[in-house]
Amino acid sequence: MSNDLPDPVLETAHNHAKDYLDGLATRHVGSQHGRDELFAKLHSPLAAHGEDPSAVIDLLASQAEVGMTSCSSPRYFGFVIGGTQPVALAADWLVSTWDQNAGIHAISPFSAVVEEVAVEWMLDLFDLPRESSVGFVTGGQMANFTCLAAARHNVLRRVGWDVELDGLAGAPRVNIVVSAGAHVTIDVALRYLGFGTRSLQIVDADDQGRMRAESLRDLMTTLDGPTIICAQAGNVNSGSFDPLREIAVIAHEADAWLHVDGAFGLWARASMSLSELADGIELADSWSTDAHKWLNVPYDSGVAIVKHSADHRAAMRSSASYLIQTQGAERDSIDWVPELSRRARAIPIYATLRALGRDGVEKLINRGCARARQMADLLGAEKGVQILNDVVLNQALVRFGDDDETTRAVVSGVQDEGTCWASGTIWNGQAAMRVSVTNWATSEEDISQSATAILRVYQSLQTR
Ligand SMILES: *Cc1c(COP(=O)(O)O)cnc(C)c1O
Repeated sequence: MSNDLPDPVLETAHNHAKDYLDGLATRHVGSQHGRDELFAKLHSPLAAHGEDPSAVIDLLASQAEVGMTSCSSPRYFGFVIGGTQPVALAADWLVSTWDQNAGIHAISPFSAVVEEVAVEWMLDLFDLPRESSVGFVTGGQMANFTCLAAARHNVLRRVGWDVELDGLAGAPRVNIVVSAGAHVTIDVALRYLGFGTRSLQIVDADDQGRMRAESLRDLMTTLDGPTIICAQAGNVNSGSFDPLREIAVIAHEADAWLHVDGAFGLWARASMSLSELADGIELADSWSTDAHKWLNVPYDSGVAIVKHSADHRAAMRSSASYLIQTQGAERDSIDWVPELSRRARAIPIYATLRALGRDGVEKLINRGCARARQMADLLGAEKGVQILNDVVLNQALVRFGDDDETTRAVVSGVQDEGTCWASGTIWNGQAAMRVSVTNWATSEEDISQSATAILRVYQSLQTR
């Protein structure tokens, strides 16, 4: 390798990145090649001798071009994905460049202090108890895991059982209460923690996917002993919020731990006009959210927030004689997350919050919601098209011709057509198209163009 700076392969990558970003607003949103075509281009036996690095990057870029769904396109409405703010991408490039192991302060004082500041800003933005501790994890899945590990530690500690030392075998039974509308990652997190799916107590949900507080109250009269309740801010389909204040009161009366999965819904707290949806959320014991969703930083970036830092630390902490751990105010990230070695993923969060400010985050959240309503209004005005949910946030559920087959055909037709991309779901037993607007760059024009394309697909199915 030469000592020239910059290395030509970095220049190659920079050019591909620029081309991709330049074309993002106009490119076909869905992927165009499937597994077999991609495999044919990308597969070769592992070479005995290496290849030119720039040629490798060129090859990857050529296949990315045809094999990717552009999740950061302003007309990508699938799942709850979100785009990337330019400042977040810029910071993320540097995260990879600096290649810090953000596990302990001794390795990277810079990353540790960036985290410390980002923690303060996020607690302030979400208006959560300022004494809370925060871990930067890969995503909502691991944020739920981390918070629920702290919960498990806390409720068992309070009945005299140290789950970290003694495990779950022989431990007092822990009641785990979840909503029928909970995200699948709650079940998975609980599974990782030794609480099998069949052991969960399920509370029914209403037609918007909100946990029914009355049902929770009834259930709680039948339970005693250590209890963890999992509530939700932002249903992955409808965007609805559980009645958090009522749930918090019930949890407090029962001395239960209340966890709230707010993967995207917690961001409503950053908006004056929306924060009412999450009223009472501050009364919970732990919260999980994603920065890679609505803050629009690149993957992977989830956030675990725990009010009781001693329980959080007890559940996550690792120590070994070769690690240099801090005693003072310095932050060792490994105390708050499941990982040991870790990329410095708080840096893009810091950069984005600093560049947007409180006002910029609020606008980002409000804009997504306004665009989702615009989409719902445009589609819902068409004969035969129904909006199935109350569009309270950034999610709309759309049904075509009041028919499962037609709705599924519209979803796949839209994916093939390429103007925009949306996925399907089953909502209250009926097929629906999900539209999630989670990208800073989505304009009114993007929505009207997309609505037109969606309706064109629907109409073409009717005339066939
Ligand atoms: C997306 C989502 C998750 C999972 O988050 P990942 O970052 O994909 O792990 C959990 N809960 C809800 C409500 C979500 O929307």
